Amino acid sequence: MIVEKVSKNDQWEDYFIKSKSSNKEYIITIDLLEGTVSCDCEDFKYRKENLRFGGVRLSDKANHCKHIKKILEIRDDLD
Ligand SMILES: [Zn+2]
Repeated sequence: MIVEKVSKNDQWEDYFIKSKSSNKEYIITIDLLEGTVSCDCEDFKYRKENLRFGGVRLSDKANHCKHIKKILEIRDDLD
C-alpha cells in the first residue's frame, strides 16, 4: 500500500491510501475533535458501529478496516 498524508489541521487529518494489488484508492479521515475515524472503502461502509458522520471511535479497533489499521500504525512516522 502507498500512503500519503493529504492534509492536516487542528480538527482533522486526511490520508490517502492506494492499494498496489487492486489499484484502488481510499481516503481515510481522522476527526481529532470527535476522536473518530472513517474510510471510504466498501469493507468499512458495512461495519456495524458506524456513527452519525460515518466514522467509528479511534479506540474501537474491532471496527477498523485494514486501511485505518495501517494509518493508525504509521501516522506518527509520516510528518
Ligand atoms: Zn478502508
